[in-house]
Amino acid sequence: MSVTTAALDPSVCAPLPVLGQDVTVPLVTGGEVVYAALDYAASAPALQRVWDDVAAYAPYYGSVHRGAGYLSQLSTDLFENSRRTVAEFLGCRAEDQVVFTRSTTDSLNLLAAALPADCQVFVYETEHHASLLPWRDARVTYLDAPRTPAQAVETLERALADRDPYGPALVCVTGASNVTGELWPVKELAAAAHAHGARIVLDAAQLAPHHPVDIAELDVDWVAFSGHKLYAPFGSGVLAGRADWLREAEPYLAGGGASRKVSRRADGGVDVDWHTTAARHEAGSPNVIGVYSIASACKALTEAGFDNLVAREQELVSRVREGLAEVPEVQVLSLFGDDAPRVGVISFVVRGWNSSHFAAALSAEYGIGVRDGLFCAHPLVRTLLGSDPQDPGECGAPEAEPGERSLNAIRVSFGAGT
Ligand code: PLP
Repeated sequence: MSVTTAALDPSVCAPLPVLGQDVTVPLVTGGEVVYAALDYAASAPALQRVWDDVAAYAPYYGSVHRGAGYLSQLSTDLFENSRRTVAEFLGCRAEDQVVFTRSTTDSLNLLAAALPADCQVFVYETEHHASLLPWRDARVTYLDAPRTPAQAVETLERALADRDPYGPALVCVTGASNVTGELWPVKELAAAAHAHGARIVLDAAQLAPHHPVDIAELDVDWVAFSGHKLYAPFGSGVLAGRADWLREAEPYLAGGGASRKVSRRADGGVDVDWHTTAARHEAGSPNVIGVYSIASACKALTEAGFDNLVAREQELVSRVREGLAEVPEVQVLSLFGDDAPRVGVISFVVRGWNSSHFAAALSAEYGIGVRDGLFCAHPLVRTLLGSDPQDPGECGAPEAEPGERSLNAIRVSFGAGT
């Protein structure tokens, strides 16, 4: 299977250096090759700049919010300045709050735990499991997969028109699909949600690494993303947006840092006065390295300029799609059609090939790392593959024999470091 493509335009912004760009791996066919990580949608390699910033800070490492010493003060400043950097990166409004979490999954579970009583939630079946599943204790309406962005808005409007108009409601939507890379009409969905008195949370796990996300401009109520997809190391994430539901909810975790005052009662119990700031949901010693890494990545992306990064990435998207189009056995998965705007996330199946075997062969024979499976979006991938929704497959597990219809897919994904 050979592919010819136009060369990339070298005048477009050079990629940001990432870790591991010169790692060589052994091939089963003998010899070694420089590893090509094309799995950014799962976890992007950390930027060299982020690693350097963390290394420069490491000798000054100290406890956050807890110590009077110089290093403690320094770490606390770094932590709180990182909050401001992230707020700026997301274009937060003055009244918005940035809560540091472990990941997008954690952020959305935090919001789910903070829903007001009787909240109705509207979510497309096409979502990643992180945004599909946290609402199961609420009154959830699952929306069918739309086939155009306009249909996504119509589907939502229809569902919201039928809702209880007096109770609280939340719409959850992903800005860029982790399966097709397609962009969703976030601004239009936010307008529809607000027109019906509902709020909206944007899962920006795949959008934020590829596109500017401006919370005020998009007019969404919350944004969630993960550090490890935004070129920072694992273990930190963000939930940014409106403070009111979070301020009124029970703390996500009970413990030190979230509590302002704790006292014994005359009856022997314990009373707690919880913080009303972001600290309410950040109990325990915070992940200052993770948070600082996110801030460093936000600065690096902003300085590189999203216009440049998007232009470069779109060249890569075209090049990969043109290459795949030259192979008749390849079917690229798409919900909104070939012309839909998308980020550097492309999933496909190859007729006559088991997707897992194909992905394993890319790694073993060419040193190219991709992902195979259902990408933690089982309903969406099954819809795209036209397979029986009752198939009992797990992420990455279902296998088709060579020549049979694929029950899973292959995904290549890339970004600012590619
Ligand atoms: N949302 C989307 C669209 C994703 O692609 C992912 C991860 O792949 C998540 C949420 C969950 O992110 P995390 O695993 O960092 O919590």
